Amino acid sequence: MEAIIQTEKLSHVYSAGTPFERGALIDVDFTAYRGEYLGIIGHTGSGKSTLIQHLNGLLKPTSGVVRFDGRDIWESKERTRQTRFQVGLVFQYPEYQLFAATVYDDVAFGPRNLGLPADEVDRRVEAALESVRLDIAELGDKSPFELSGGQQRRVAFAGVLAMEPRVLVLDEPVAGLDPVAREEFLDLIAQLHAGGLTVVMVSHSMDDLARLSD
Ligand code: ADP
Ligand code: MG
Repeated sequence: MEAIIQTEKLSHVYSAGTPFERGALIDVDFTAYRGEYLGIIGHTGSGKSTLIQHLNGLLKPTSGVVRFDGRDIWESKERTRQTRFQVGLVFQYPEYQLFAATVYDDVAFGPRNLGLPADEVDRRVEAALESVRLDIAELGDKSPFELSGGQQRRVAFAGVLAMEPRVLVLDEPVAGLDPVAREEFLDLIAQLHAGGLTVVMVSHSMDDLARLSD
């Protein structure tokens, strides 16, 4: 199998040199292979969120290397930028980051930032909302804040999918959802994976990961 993301001796120290210094990651070697559904499990505070924020260059290593497609993601500004587009990161409680006046604008934010033409933005927003099974005709012009919690999370998720990433990294994506919404969401992730996306999922649930991940 071919590696898509790799870390080599990755360390991350928060508040280095202060009395609050905290080594969250120490010499972590990690590989995600192309097409894999990789599960990450561990107790609270073990460094899961810290690790995955390194996979798309959101955090910079204190030491060590992160590679995407074999190249150091910090080798140049352009390389870091490209990695952020291609590795889609879905935060814990991503709905907290919704901000736009309409569902459409929220999902369109990333593609517009890429400088894509309006018709391509349109196509991506439509496709992303369709993948998360939200009806653009019904919801596109609504405020995200009028939606249910489960729908809001789908909107936030659609915003990541609209970037058309090659790898999807999810931090406890079903935390706080009711059982029905949970199953629907996990199903959706399984379908995206079946469609060819590499998935890295952090979860508290040994059951979910045992069932779903490779
Ligand atoms: P997990 O996601 O597995 O619960 P985290 O990566 O959030 O773990 O945290 C790993 C360690 O780093 C914990 O001890 C946590 O308190 C600490 N930590 C996380 N984020 C920060 C931060 N922004 N500043 C300082 N310490 C942090
Ligand atoms: Mg976490």
